[in-house]
Amino acid sequence: MAKAIRQLEENLHLVDIVFELVDARIPSASRNPEIERLIKDKPHLMILTKSDLADPEQTQNWIKAFKAKGLPAIAVDSKANITTKTVTKIAQSLLAQKLSDEAQKGLKERPIRAITVGIPNVGKSTLLNRLVNKRVAQVGDTPGVTKGQQWLRSSSKLSLLDTPGILWPKFDDEQTGQELALTGAIKEQRFASDDVGLYALHFFRTYYPDTLVDRYKLSEADQELSDVDLLLKLTKQFGMKDDYDRASDRLIQDIRKGKLGRYTLNRMGAVEDD
Ligand code: GDP
Repeated sequence: MAKAIRQLEENLHLVDIVFELVDARIPSASRNPEIERLIKDKPHLMILTKSDLADPEQTQNWIKAFKAKGLPAIAVDSKANITTKTVTKIAQSLLAQKLSDEAQKGLKERPIRAITVGIPNVGKSTLLNRLVNKRVAQVGDTPGVTKGQQWLRSSSKLSLLDTPGILWPKFDDEQTGQELALTGAIKEQRFASDDVGLYALHFFRTYYPDTLVDRYKLSEADQELSDVDLLLKLTKQFGMKDDYDRASDRLIQDIRKGKLGRYTLNRMGAVEDD
């Protein structure tokens, strides 16, 4: 990881703005704890990816919460409609002072240079490909760009470094690990499946009970069971005898594939508008 950090630090010198990607389902767990220190004062846009999988109300709360902390934020669904125009416009507005200073000095107008950073699987490559529309436009011999790296042209106003900054996820506590595992940010083999399964059951019973009832046709009596007993009941229902690890895997896969609907694991309370 030290090498990845060093490369990111070098790359940060080359860009005007950082696009920090977090998974909209786990905006807290998918944030690297070191990121603010690494980015320092560089303009910084939070991009909540996979918003098509997240609870829309929660996504809005998170956007407001980031903004309240002075971090502009947007949500994207890179599989559908990623708006290069929107991203470009926001980047321009965040860099308005710098760009106008350059114009005042008589410098030629140039595209804004950006880098995407985030933990593995958060959607960096997908977003990058979307933003550049797979048009790989190398901008000649750009000073400072390490051999093998290149700028990809998103629009006439925005260029992106082709190498995303990769950061490691935090493992502060077991719950964060389970959240990362449940969303597929890390392999669940790192955690016992039944622990992740039980965490998932408890979470959905608390926040989205109806989707669980509908999906697995739970009776009123089922809904009274403890989490462990409900997992055992589902294991039988899935025809898996007493293999509750396998049943947990099935539950995890269902959740990842969105079969239990859109969800946000990291909860954010409503934030007042300014
Ligand atoms: P990277 O490791 O950060 O570069 O992540 P990738 O771009 O490879 O994406 C990891 C997985 O997430 C892939 O299966 C993508 O198809 C998926 N993905 C990325 N962005 C989105 C999104 O906005 N919505 C959904 N549903 N899936 C996404």
